[in-house]
Amino acid sequence: MSKQVNTVLGPVNVEQLGKTLMHEHFFFGYPGYHGNSLYQNDREDLLARGLEIAAQAKAKGVQTVVDATPNECGRDPELLKEISERTDLHIICSTGYYYEGEGAPAYLKFKQGIGQAEEEIYEIFMGELTDGIGKTGIKPGVIKLASSKDEITSYEEMFFKVAAKVQKETGTSIITHTQEGTMGPEQAKLLISEGADPSRIMIGHMCGNTDINYHVRTLQQGVSIGFDRFGLQGFVGAPMDSARIAVLIGLIGSGYTDQIMLSHDTVNIWLGKEPVYPEELAPLVANWSVSHIFDNIIPALKNGGVTDEQVQTILVDNPRGIFSGRQGDGSRAVSAKSTTESE
Ligand SMILES: [Zn+2]
Repeated sequence: MSKQVNTVLGPVNVEQLGKTLMHEHFFFGYPGYHGNSLYQNDREDLLARGLEIAAQAKAKGVQTVVDATPNECGRDPELLKEISERTDLHIICSTGYYYEGEGAPAYLKFKQGIGQAEEEIYEIFMGELTDGIGKTGIKPGVIKLASSKDEITSYEEMFFKVAAKVQKETGTSIITHTQEGTMGPEQAKLLISEGADPSRIMIGHMCGNTDINYHVRTLQQGVSIGFDRFGLQGFVGAPMDSARIAVLIGLIGSGYTDQIMLSHDTVNIWLGKEPVYPEELAPLVANWSVSHIFDNIIPALKNGGVTDEQVQTILVDNPRGIFSGRQGDGSRAVSAKSTTESE
């Protein structure tokens, strides 16, 4: 039986995913954007701009985009569905909450205080994955988790534990947010210790850290990692793309090609009032768009000796692998445990 993943238009065979961006946001609003009554977003305007973004990605050969927007940050599955219907771009949406500092933790922290949060998180994840989001019938294809800088708070830890349990029951893949290049190895360890399958985990925003040992400590646990913030550089300690490329070439050269995926973490449309970047930051995000990897990053990787075959593995085979529970082209499982049995 071929493996399938839920897109906003329903289940799709993983063989059809093609070139995949693993972490983007068509629309994103920090919780609180609703409070600015002067800037209520017009649906037709959002749709028109979303269609442009999809067309831009498709022009680079992208066939699938994972929209990593958490439940409380303006996730809108019906808008994503309409974009997907009108462009034939596969869009996989997420279920999950953002990290404590920038999400909206009040509701579930209150429940945590009375011992009812984990039960409710389980209900949310399972309900959305099996019956759909609200009354839309649209099912997420991935669980999104997030942790803070230098710690996984007790609030965040609940989501990790529940996600591992839900993955065991449904086989749903997990992607994460790490903050400012911290807690990658710890996230992997926590999920695996709770029974999650490393071949179905992508620890995200790993390109926020340029210490190769940090990457190796994460990769050795058998999970995949996301170099998924290309184009977003110079903010809150984020490395420059040139440094990220150097680390990435090092990891590919060290044999980790099967465990790496790429994306930009673009916020294409900010909900609420559109931010204007200060003059000194504007050049740093000038390339923060869904075409940047194809226009600038892949050519730089090739200059550094990365082959077309390796690029194909990273953009196509690895995303397919994570949604089917096997890394790389499916012929090889990289986790330390399974190396002997599969080769
Ligand atoms: Zn993101």
